Amino acid sequence: MRHNKALTLRISEIFYSLQGETTRVGLPTVFVRLTGCPLRCSWCDTTYAFTGGRTLSLEEILAQVAAYTPRYVCVTGGEPLAQKNCLKLLTALCDAGYDVSLETSGALPVGEVDARVSRIVDLKPPSSGESTKNYWENLRLLRQDDELKFVIADRADYDWMRRIIVEHQLAGCCPILLSPVQNMLSPQTLAEWILADRLPVRLQVQLHRLLWGEAPGK
Ligand code: SF4
Repeated sequence: MRHNKALTLRISEIFYSLQGETTRVGLPTVFVRLTGCPLRCSWCDTTYAFTGGRTLSLEEILAQVAAYTPRYVCVTGGEPLAQKNCLKLLTALCDAGYDVSLETSGALPVGEVDARVSRIVDLKPPSSGESTKNYWENLRLLRQDDELKFVIADRADYDWMRRIIVEHQLAGCCPILLSPVQNMLSPQTLAEWILADRLPVRLQVQLHRLLWGEAPGK
């Protein structure tokens, strides 16, 4: 299949690493990080992706991904869906035979994403300062191969998340991931809260940070 050379995206970085989060944690993965995000979460750890990067054609991106001969490709940001050509990139990656996941803020609609893509959808809690941006209609679209992710900074976020799971009947619709914000909530405390409440969720810590700290391109 030939792709339109004029079709471009603004790319912050393309790199090969171990997936640090989600149910694909630990799997060697190519990450395609798109530049730009309309949100400004208080604890964002990828602020460097808000601006800059390079404009690459779809063919250039596919060639850089293919050079790693990966099985798994993760499209992330920033907020990748803020660039309309992201949808075409996702479809092209699926067409190329990769197992593709998309990490999105949950503030933009995911309904037009290629059905072969596993969508990792955040819900922004109060501590982010961006919880009014959550696009609630996304929740009705979640399938078993999608994942819902809450980043938790404190007890207020945790209680909010518990209420959202009940109100929207989210238990069982797809894996639910809880991530503590680094240096704000210890994984141990979050683990104890989850166990005390017998929550149907999965605690995750960021494997790439355990392995490599804040090193760029990891
Ligand atoms: S949505 Fe993600 S990239 Fe955007 S500000 Fe929030 S944490 Fe950062």
